[in-house]
Amino acid sequence: VWNDCLEVIRENVGEENFNTWFKPITPLRVDGDVLTIQVPSQFFYEWLEDNYVPVLKRAIHTVLGPTGRLEYSVVVDSGNQQAPAVSVNYPVNGAGNRRSAVNGFGNDDYSPFSYKALNPHTVNSRLNAAYSFDNFVEGDCNRLARSAGVAVAKKPGITSFNPLMLYGGVGVGKTHLVQAIGNEIKSNMPSKVVLYVDQSDFTNQFLNALQNHKLQDFQNFYQQVDLLILDDVQFLAGREKTQEMFFHIFNQLHQSGKQIIMTSDCPPRDMKGFQERLLSRFKWGLTADLQEPDFETKLAIINRKMQADGIQIPTEVSEYLAYSVDTNLRDMEGVLNSLIFHATLLKKEIDLELAKEVLKNIIKEIQSDVSVDFIQKTVAESFKVDLDAMKGKVKKREIVIPRQVAMYFCKRYTQLTLALIGENFGGRDHSTVIHALESVEDMMKTDPNFKATVDDLGKKLKMRVN
Ligand code: ADP
Ligand code: MG
Repeated sequence: VWNDCLEVIRENVGEENFNTWFKPITPLRVDGDVLTIQVPSQFFYEWLEDNYVPVLKRAIHTVLGPTGRLEYSVVVDSGNQQAPAVSVNYPVNGAGNRRSAVNGFGNDDYSPFSYKALNPHTVNSRLNAAYSFDNFVEGDCNRLARSAGVAVAKKPGITSFNPLMLYGGVGVGKTHLVQAIGNEIKSNMPSKVVLYVDQSDFTNQFLNALQNHKLQDFQNFYQQVDLLILDDVQFLAGREKTQEMFFHIFNQLHQSGKQIIMTSDCPPRDMKGFQERLLSRFKWGLTADLQEPDFETKLAIINRKMQADGIQIPTEVSEYLAYSVDTNLRDMEGVLNSLIFHATLLKKEIDLELAKEVLKNIIKEIQSDVSVDFIQKTVAESFKVDLDAMKGKVKKREIVIPRQVAMYFCKRYTQLTLALIGENFGGRDHSTVIHALESVEDMMKTDPNFKATVDDLGKKLKMRVN
């Protein structure tokens, strides 16, 4: 049967791919309409799932008929034992459903604890290999969290970093970062059992165990984990029983020096609906926040992503995007993917016009005009001065200059009268504003560095105008 399949496959993939990915497969058995094949490694299995599902499907259906199914058996790297077979049931499962089909975790996503003796190779860590430190761009907004992550990845279990609690808003990179830690540990310390779960995975597993009277198995399973990552822990709020279980698991792991990493949308002190004893444990180790990405970080993320996809993007476009997408990085991801789609499939050149069009479709509300608020905020950020001080009456030179620059841009980019501009800067009169405009223009003539700074700011602001 397998030889027949191979014929079909050979016709559909190149010779080289055939030799690399299909020659090493050993057919194990045919049981009714189920063919079981043995693949040399987990990686091999995942590669097949990612790249050859349509081909495999066609082969199986041609040879075994429309009800034909394929099961994998993955050879475990250490000691050459065989992991339990995984059923990949075409056409129900495709590559998109890989998570539930990875070996060792069973087909049921929520019953991982059926394997009593854990072997790191038979646990599906639920890590996405696409998230690494390498492609996690470092910036002011995430530096502390990132270096905490790197430290934990080097030495998981160190008391002062245990637990590691990372918090921040939507799309700031929490999941990316904790997954990067998991991937790093998994590749550097293959004997460690790494497990990533988000709150809903954990809760569902727990409720399942509760229902099936398998709480002991559930606990045993978690006890054997060396690195536990619990994402979005804030959603455990109000779930008394699940919290209680997590409390026990936390204690067991922590006592035996196992690393726990959590993410949340706010720091433990602001978390509502949690048992006090649990919250106090959240504060035992290190808490670090991830902030909204700043302009430079966004720019670097855009450039890295485009580079990874081999796409050229003009500087004015990347700067425009870094400025305009100010909701969160998930939206940015959407915008970039759409641009990549246009560039590769529709063969369009990525220019400002295309970027604007894409953005308009993806993010409904783009500011159509530059507001005084936006100018003030941008200028204060660029000069690294306190926004309120800049809008107020402080007379220090390092505040006065940014204030004058902000006034200058208000004149250039808004319809406001001089008097109204003055109103927006602590109630100054129009002659102060005129003086500000003159002195900015003077400084631009005499100080090339200053001029460069102002021009640069002007470019950034102008992108928001139309
Ligand atoms: P969160 O979990 O905080 O909501 P995610 O980790 O899901 O955010 O990040 C959203 C998207 O932005 C992901 O595609 C992620 O890869 C990307 N991203 C976030 N921060 C960075 C960063 N510093 N460098 C590269 N990509 C990032
Ligand atoms: Mg997340």
